[in-house]
Amino acid sequence: MRRLAFYFYEGITVTHSLTQLFKQDQPVVSFELFPPKTEKGEAALYRHVEKLMAFNPDFLTCTYGAGGSTQGKTLEIINEVKKRFDVPVASHLTVVGSTVDQLRDYLQTAKDQSVDYIVALRGDPPQGSESFEAVDGGLSYANELVDLIAAEYSNFGVLVAGYPEKHKEAPNMQVDLENLKRKVDAGSHAIVTQLFYDNDDFFRFRDLCADAGITIPIVPGLLPVTNFEQVKRIASMCAATLPKRFVDRLGERDDKEWQYQVGVEHAIEQTRGLLDAGIEGLHWYVLNRSDATSEILNAVDFNRV
Ligand SMILES: Cc1cc2nc3c(=O)[nH]c(=O)nc-3n(C[C@H](O)[C@H](O)[C@H](O)COP(=O)(O)OP(=O)(O)OC[C@H]3O[C@@H](n4cnc5c(N)ncnc54)[C@H](O)[C@@H]3O)c2cc1C
Repeated sequence: MRRLAFYFYEGITVTHSLTQLFKQDQPVVSFELFPPKTEKGEAALYRHVEKLMAFNPDFLTCTYGAGGSTQGKTLEIINEVKKRFDVPVASHLTVVGSTVDQLRDYLQTAKDQSVDYIVALRGDPPQGSESFEAVDGGLSYANELVDLIAAEYSNFGVLVAGYPEKHKEAPNMQVDLENLKRKVDAGSHAIVTQLFYDNDDFFRFRDLCADAGITIPIVPGLLPVTNFEQVKRIASMCAATLPKRFVDRLGERDDKEWQYQVGVEHAIEQTRGLLDAGIEGLHWYVLNRSDATSEILNAVDFNRV
């Protein structure tokens, strides 16, 4: 496995190891997990991670409180993943429901446990709330969390979220990009995008980021469709468009195996297009499974050293 020093010295410039990782001559690969709710789910997770390790990922991440999952389990899962598979890990962290002191406690624990990177997020409003509200003594936006990490926990590599189809609350793309730039300037090392199913959305976003002066790596986030109903729900939550042609084809048969195959074929095509366009990384929302992602990476002949 690739062991990374915290910093790399180039003359007087200090380059973070996460920035350095993106200088390799092959795309950086990461897999995103979520904390399982049961012991059975956790055991299955490690079996799937073992299969995913065949692709020699650069790091694995685990979500934090997403979709109602518990916050406490994130560090437990990534620690276990790091211990079992000897791979760098990233904890997602949102500001939802936490004061700055509680965020500090989390970051300190993560540092003590040798977590490598933080995916710094604002998070969605808690279920039942219409809009996001910071708690007393808490933070309002992801850029403030990046500020906190840069000021007090600069050991961490920092990834932030980007939205090829615009974040659902932003009035327009221009404003969303200004906010993204604020996060980047606060000290982020890479952007991971929300899922998308039309590469043109990603390429347009990448160009707009370049125009806005955003120069850090932008990693496409991919969620292969394996269960049409589930993906429809997730895509609607994330305000991601499922192209009509794709939806029509998925709907041709009310058959789970068919939908899996069509979903995987679409993801293979998307991945080929992205690799051909020289993307700097691939982030897979694997939903704690290995089958579809493995099939796709094998199909595009994604061999890594
Ligand atoms: C790769 C990835 C991983 C994710 N992981 C998780 C997870 O683990 N747990 C979870 O709960 N959710 C997760 N999410 C979802 C994410 O929390 C939501 O999309 C959330 O609504 C926005 O989070 P953000 O960090 O992008 O917020 P921000 O960057 O803070 O942006 C939120 C909104 O506010 C605007 N904005 C930003 N900064 C400012 C500012 N300073 N002033 C005014 N407006 C501003 C933005 O344009 C945007 O509309 C993830 C998303 C992605 C793409």
